[in-house]
Amino acid sequence: MSQEKVIAYIKGRLESGRMREAVEASRIAGISLSKEELQGYVYRYLENGWMSRAVEGSRAAGISVPEQDLTTYLDKYLEKGLIYSALEASKITGTSLPKEKLIMVGRECLLNGKLNPGLEAYGIVNETPPEEELIICGNRCFTEGLFYPGLEAYRIAKKTPPLDGLLICGKKCFEVGLPTQGLEAYEMAKKTPTKEMVRACGEKCLLERRNEEARIAFVAAQKIEDTMKAEPIEIKETSFKILGSSKETEESWTGFGPKICMDCENDEEFEERYFILTRCPDNKEEEKWLDDTMKEQYGIEHYCVAVDAFEDDRGLIDFVVCGKCGSQNVDFDL
Ligand SMILES: [Zn+2]
Repeated sequence: MSQEKVIAYIKGRLESGRMREAVEASRIAGISLSKEELQGYVYRYLENGWMSRAVEGSRAAGISVPEQDLTTYLDKYLEKGLIYSALEASKITGTSLPKEKLIMVGRECLLNGKLNPGLEAYGIVNETPPEEELIICGNRCFTEGLFYPGLEAYRIAKKTPPLDGLLICGKKCFEVGLPTQGLEAYEMAKKTPTKEMVRACGEKCLLERRNEEARIAFVAAQKIEDTMKAEPIEIKETSFKILGSSKETEESWTGFGPKICMDCENDEEFEERYFILTRCPDNKEEEKWLDDTMKEQYGIEHYCVAVDAFEDDRGLIDFVVCGKCGSQNVDFDL
């Protein structure tokens, strides 16, 4: 082995916390390692939460680490919620972990969506986490696209995951390039994701050279497209009240915003009707069909379709009539 390779090897061992191997290699190769450098690594291990590696390494390198420093790190681990590191540190230092502290840490972990360390902390003191904390944890996991931990949190709380949580999670999974979890989340919510969403997920996977996942996404997107095309669009009237209380519309959706009548300049009084489309029109023919149907069935000529009001492929139609002059010629100040 060349000198350079030996140095690289030693450095690699030091970086990964294997100081004994690094020290032995340096001894054999006759390369000296300074005490300061080794001490720097020992404290870096402690900083990372690797107390056993720090202790073992310091022994191999003949560096002493004061007991006080170890207990200080134990406290730090608890504060940071590094529950596994804290457990290890308590064994090494022979310090018992206070029950209240562990419950506090467990709670903190759960509230921050860290399911496993949270459960671990409660487990050590033989306590069951409160249902409320588990649900917060589950929701937090869902927002971050952590589908399985989210499900697990709800399972332990003995609750059914909420529809909006599943959809938020599914959408997030697609965004971060996890097609399988995204599809599962939508399936569990009994909804169909948009083909664009799933296709974009596939493209992300492809860019990251995760070909198998990309394939799963593209196949699913194609299937959605085929199914959608085969199904006619259905129009169902709804109300602002139902929409507002529904958890299915996008969180940001609060209506179509300010409006103005182009005929009498009224900008306050409007009568509105809302319709949900089972899917948005996909081409010019379908758009024409929608225009004709709205006119024939509801006498509506001017309307506005929000294509992204829902987390899935459905569309939302807003029809506005001026409350003063009755004109349909209302402009949306978008
Ligand atoms: Zn008017």
